Amino acid sequence: MFGKRLVLASALFVGYVAVLALGQAVTPALPCTEAVLAENCTLPDCRCSGIDIPGNLTVATTPQLVFLTFDDAVAIQNIDFYREVLYNRKNPNNHNITATFFINHEYNNYALAHELYRLGHDIALHSMSHNPLTPYWANLNQSMWRAEVVDQRQQMATLARIPVADVKGFRAPFLQTGGDVMYSVLQEGGFQWECSRPTLNFRKPGIWPYTNDYRSTQDCQIQPCPVGEYKGFWTVPMIDMLGDNNEGCAMVDTCTPVPETADETYDLLLKNFNDHYTTNKAPFGIFTHAAWMNGADDEGLASRKIGYARFLDFLATKEDVYIVSISRAIEWIKTPTPVAELADFVPFQVPVKPDDCTVVRNCYYAAEQTPFPTERYMTVCDACPAVYPWLGNPLGVS
Ligand SMILES: [Zn+2]
Repeated sequence: MFGKRLVLASALFVGYVAVLALGQAVTPALPCTEAVLAENCTLPDCRCSGIDIPGNLTVATTPQLVFLTFDDAVAIQNIDFYREVLYNRKNPNNHNITATFFINHEYNNYALAHELYRLGHDIALHSMSHNPLTPYWANLNQSMWRAEVVDQRQQMATLARIPVADVKGFRAPFLQTGGDVMYSVLQEGGFQWECSRPTLNFRKPGIWPYTNDYRSTQDCQIQPCPVGEYKGFWTVPMIDMLGDNNEGCAMVDTCTPVPETADETYDLLLKNFNDHYTTNKAPFGIFTHAAWMNGADDEGLASRKIGYARFLDFLATKEDVYIVSISRAIEWIKTPTPVAELADFVPFQVPVKPDDCTVVRNCYYAAEQTPFPTERYMTVCDACPAVYPWLGNPLGVS
């Protein structure tokens, strides 16, 4: 009896917190039980959180999926790094590898975002403002989340000519999610997945991406985490790497000690890759910023780039390793397909799309046309907006 009352009390508490955070009720997610697994939660629409391989494939027949992700603006300063390191690499199906870009608005070059998009990379969002204060993200209300993310997708569609339907994912700045408020906005806004939640408890064997139809068993490293039910909306966990000091690091840029040489970089990536490859092959993510590797060698940047590229060379020797964007990986999880059949797996094929950004404009905005004290430059497809686009005016209409 006492136990039941405790359960009831905690359920009420969870509901109370959710109401507080949202200003309206969320439906608390129910636990994923054996009965749910058997009857109510099956692929392609639903997957409970866990370390089991989708489709109950064996380890030997499961491809090791690898995510290469890069946060923040795409710009003249980093596009040559992406071209050098990512372009012209092939997966075992002889199609190009694809990465995932989490792009925020300020200083982004939309013509270059279009280039990445048409070559098959995933263009995901990372907020319009990238506000530097984490409490801002933890406490943001629904209408502001819409302005930061749903409006940003419209901005990307207009300025980079990327169809709304092809912008599917999100990562919160500094991995500071807004819990249920953020999840509700992403789901209602038609996004398919988010990738902001680090896990240390489920790193070896790793937790696979899951939908939020039922209660997640993932650890909550950065509060708040969602407790509501978001049917069909995917969480792509950020499985921590371990630095050489044995401490977890969600972004490889934060692993310590920071690798200084190509060999140290290669060894760090290989060691963490093997934690996935030798267990349940949960997707291995190298989550980083170009700034970790892009530049002169006085801070180890060029050496890290060499070690990173050498690691990608090593992955290319493996017939069961596929470097794919997160949206493509989710298609695999929805329809688990053995390695031997991947030659014909459509989501891993990467046809180049037509160039839909043939008119590129370099736009200038004096300080009075921006919300900032200083001027801004912006490169877009087609036409320059009248004023600098920002929260509340994502297309920069005057
Ligand atoms: Zn960022």
